[in-house]
Amino acid sequence: MRGQTSIASVFTPLMEPPALDPRAHALFLDFDGTLADIAPRPEDVVLAPALRQTLATLTHAMGGAVALLSGRSTSNLRGYLGGAVMHVAGIHGQELESRGLTQPSPASVAAAAAEFRALQHEGALTARIEDKTLSLALHYRHDPSAEAEVRRIAHSVAARRQLRVLEGKMVVELIAGSFDKGDALDAFMRAPAFLGRTPIMVGDDTTDEDAFTAAHRLGGFGVLVGPPRPSSASFLLASPSAVHAWLSTGLGA
Ligand SMILES: [Mg+2]
Repeated sequence: MRGQTSIASVFTPLMEPPALDPRAHALFLDFDGTLADIAPRPEDVVLAPALRQTLATLTHAMGGAVALLSGRSTSNLRGYLGGAVMHVAGIHGQELESRGLTQPSPASVAAAAAEFRALQHEGALTARIEDKTLSLALHYRHDPSAEAEVRRIAHSVAARRQLRVLEGKMVVELIAGSFDKGDALDAFMRAPAFLGRTPIMVGDDTTDEDAFTAAHRLGGFGVLVGPPRPSSASFLLASPSAVHAWLSTGLGA
């Protein structure tokens, strides 16, 4: 999908989305910063217990047309969600569990991880390294002043190892494959549970923009979570708790 001209206009969304319609909509959800509040470390994130039930009920009401699109691995997401959501794409679309697809070439990720660990050992890199096999994340939430240096090092190593760089909130990620969240949304929309429905993508980060664009292109829309900023999303929800409230609008129908 990258390289194609986006037809979603970029502006700053301010309005809340219309109510969720379980009969007509397909729902795509990011995890961190969207369903769950961001924590200092990814493993510290807690999911509100009632949310798992809400997702399970919605999944049933929507005929299975609910998918998670996250930077986490699918196995990690399963730990949070159990069987509440049937369709999960991990590592920003690299792991597309429902189609049994995974992208190869983790060797370059392993090599990059070794380089980063050596730099960390020398004291030249303060970021926390998260090795997700198909990708590698450098987190600097504990040391925001390191942002410029972490990004410089990440781009340098990525260029040498032929890895793609995704920049997010307090994290920069190096990825082996070429899929993004928009590709994952496209793939899900061709699956039986999603066919004929209107896609809604809900996400908070720059890595969600590809999926906002894909949803728009397929006749749906994006919902940005957090403070207003320029985005391809059409609507805004202020926080994960606002997302929970909006998801509940789909339960009464
Ligand atoms: Mg997020």
